[in-house]
Amino acid sequence: MQGMMMTMPMRIIEILQYGAELHPGAEIVSVRTEGDIHRETYAEAYARAGQLAHGLAGLGIAPGDRVATLAWNGYRHFELYYAISGMGAVCHTINPRLSAEQMLYIITHAEDRVLCLDLTFVPLIEALADQLPADLKFVLMTDRAHMPDSAVDFLCYEELLDGQPAAYDWPMLDETAAAGLCYTSGTTGNPKGALFSQRSTVLHALWLSIAIPKSLNAQARILPVVPMFHVNSWGLPYAAPLVGASLIMPGSKLDGASLFDLMETEGVTASWGVPTVWLGLRAEMEARNAAPSKLKQVVIGGSAAPRAMIEFFERQDIDVCHAWGMTEMSPVGTHGQLPPTMEGLDFDTRMALKSKQGRRMFGVELKITDEDGARLPHDGKAVGNLYVRGNGIVSGYFNNPEATAAALDAEGWFGTGDVASIDADGFLYIQDRAKDLIKSGGEWISSIDLENIAMAHPCVSNCAVISIPHPKWDERPLLVVVPKSESEKPALEEIHAMMLDHVAKWQLPDAMEFVDALPLTATGKVSKLTLRQRFDGYQMPDVG
Ligand code: AMP
Repeated sequence: MQGMMMTMPMRIIEILQYGAELHPGAEIVSVRTEGDIHRETYAEAYARAGQLAHGLAGLGIAPGDRVATLAWNGYRHFELYYAISGMGAVCHTINPRLSAEQMLYIITHAEDRVLCLDLTFVPLIEALADQLPADLKFVLMTDRAHMPDSAVDFLCYEELLDGQPAAYDWPMLDETAAAGLCYTSGTTGNPKGALFSQRSTVLHALWLSIAIPKSLNAQARILPVVPMFHVNSWGLPYAAPLVGASLIMPGSKLDGASLFDLMETEGVTASWGVPTVWLGLRAEMEARNAAPSKLKQVVIGGSAAPRAMIEFFERQDIDVCHAWGMTEMSPVGTHGQLPPTMEGLDFDTRMALKSKQGRRMFGVELKITDEDGARLPHDGKAVGNLYVRGNGIVSGYFNNPEATAAALDAEGWFGTGDVASIDADGFLYIQDRAKDLIKSGGEWISSIDLENIAMAHPCVSNCAVISIPHPKWDERPLLVVVPKSESEKPALEEIHAMMLDHVAKWQLPDAMEFVDALPLTATGKVSKLTLRQRFDGYQMPDVG
């Protein structure tokens, strides 16, 4: 028997419509590439999204067409998100940190019709222009006064909006229609496109809003450091208007000092980003011996948050929510906002819990399996391949039958490529990417475990553990450290002593090497592939 309720399609534009109507006091504050600060309300953003949709329609954009963005976090990027998906087109966010070759690949693969870019990226596009499709149109996200002289025929964003009506007849789209496209960073092989739908995006925003209320509420002023050019800034541009939170958009200045100043002047209450960003903010907080005065929560994800970092923020009364997810998951899968029953636990127990990747969001199911695909228990001990299922998770990759065929297991679950355990309370603990695990004498060593401990040494600014081929043990761990300073380098024995409290002796790194900085991927994670290449042929000392 069928239920007798209306079925309305879930549409992304309704989020902004709702935010504009119900949260008139919330605002989007943007550090502009033009150099100043800009403010607008959700009502203004909604009106401008309407004008923009008319402008894009004037350029020939129709439902299903891909419109690309190459931009920092800012109000025009936000308007593009809503205008493009609202009119039924697909917002293809491009990561500017991709190599030129990868960027050309994805623009061609996505068959983008229009590319909207911030002023910062003019030289990049000028350099690539002759290799880009001849019919691709470019819109420069600025006003007439800031339009540069260029050999490329750039259209002006503000001119596209000028004189257009704010009212747009947003179509009643099929909720399963494509709305957003984001390519994975593709450290091996070509990037693969995750194609989000209207429905998956709305559902993810709703789930996120109820999952992390310390960040997402009507009093909040959230600073997304996590970029809009990669996995939709973890869904914040959609969740914030739903709950009435203001968005403080940092533009291109993401160093510790700029973030601290912006947090202070704008009264930021929560901020989301990857661990490398928090290393910068932490150094700034230590240098000033102060914390941004209104900051109540940081959400850390994208890579494992080291326990030392979590403790640092928690000691300043800033709640740390450790989250895990993937591009293919819209992206948030689990989050570490503790339930009230666990908030009262002692500091050490809470820090141990927060070092794990948290518990699943509503709408996301998790399972771990052995090499034969058999399910393993959620007992905190069994470690296996992590699979996920849910309405916000890809069922395949855009225009890529080969990758699509390999994405799901026989039961229809998506293979994350992560290796993890899940405990009886539902806390996920990521041990490694499957390809980064170290196999020594037939036993696994988790690089994340070792990094976590080494990060607590006062002379370690950042570190990574990689596998080095070994004649006797197959692979052994090498610890690569960025020291706090040239004069303050840690000794391997000191780090070993710290590690021995937590891991077995045979798991200790055989050697340590110092570097000035760790190589990062386009999404700000430590590139272990590049590190392994850098240490190719490295001879481990014979430690028996
Ligand atoms: P991306 O699709 O670029 O967001 O990368 C997703 C991958 O990042 C995951 O499969 C994990 O390997 C890794 N990742 C994301 N968040 C975390 C986390 N909190 N801890 C450990 N690894 C993480």
